[in-house]
Amino acid sequence: MSDKQKTIKKPVSVSGKGLHTGKEGTLTMVPAPENHGIKFKRTDIDGQPVIDAHITNVVATDRGTTLGLNGYKIYTIEHVLAALTGMGVDNALIELDMEEIPIKDGSSKYFVEAIEQAGILEQNSFKEYIELIKPISYEIPEKKIKLEIEPSDHFSVTVVVDYDSRVLGQQIARLGRIEDFKAKIAPCRTFVFLHELEFLLKNNLIKGGDLNNAIVFVNKKVTQEELDYLADLFNKPRVKVKKDGILNNLELYFDNEPARHKLLDVIGDLSLLGKSIKGHVTAYRPGHQVNTEFAKVIYNHINNYAYDKRATL
Ligand SMILES: [Zn+2]
Repeated sequence: MSDKQKTIKKPVSVSGKGLHTGKEGTLTMVPAPENHGIKFKRTDIDGQPVIDAHITNVVATDRGTTLGLNGYKIYTIEHVLAALTGMGVDNALIELDMEEIPIKDGSSKYFVEAIEQAGILEQNSFKEYIELIKPISYEIPEKKIKLEIEPSDHFSVTVVVDYDSRVLGQQIARLGRIEDFKAKIAPCRTFVFLHELEFLLKNNLIKGGDLNNAIVFVNKKVTQEELDYLADLFNKPRVKVKKDGILNNLELYFDNEPARHKLLDVIGDLSLLGKSIKGHVTAYRPGHQVNTEFAKVIYNHINNYAYDKRATL
């Protein structure tokens, strides 16, 4: 991959439902000039406000990463951001006519396909990188959470998930080169545990959920009656639990698809640093909250370092 900044060649759209609101809307990625970065524009609001895809604009991290500025918000930004990073796009304006990015199948696949359809344009300026001189880590020992970045000449990510779940077990996913994102990571869908799903549904937190945009793990014993009830809530035909503890609504693309999806989320959340990363990231039990906290730690570290350098001049 060249060291020059990139944008897309022409506007391209992806339409679909938001997971949490259930509203139907359209996202349009538009080419942007050098050093623009990634920004979101709410076209459904007076004045069409624009918000930088930057860590300083994160306002919530429950069930997705949310940006907010001056009272308006954009929900579930991580999968489209991961797609842009994975395809090497530095500059784009993402126009959105609702408050949430369409969930599609819960992966980055549709955004990657849209970027490919638009085509990628190399620009004149060089990419800006985050480079480190020593490792930086963020840890919550009581939750067995640890995220670390070590200096490297390129970006790579390793993720370990372990949610004390018999059906999910411990899984590891690795991405050695960002060029492999499209094939190995982009199609990997989000997942949810059955016992969480019922709660989310009943509390109207996933109005756009339709059993096709998440892998459902069945962690506890469940009766066919309960499953039938759930299928009715979703207006779906009958579902069953398969041998490996997942609902038979879909097939896994990879044995470790859940860990690969967590890796996708890490890439999307860390893209909020606004620059390409040269470093190897290792994340044990990542999630949006700790991913974005970790990004803030990296951001503060780099800013302080830049300040120190100025101070010694
Ligand atoms: Zn995700």
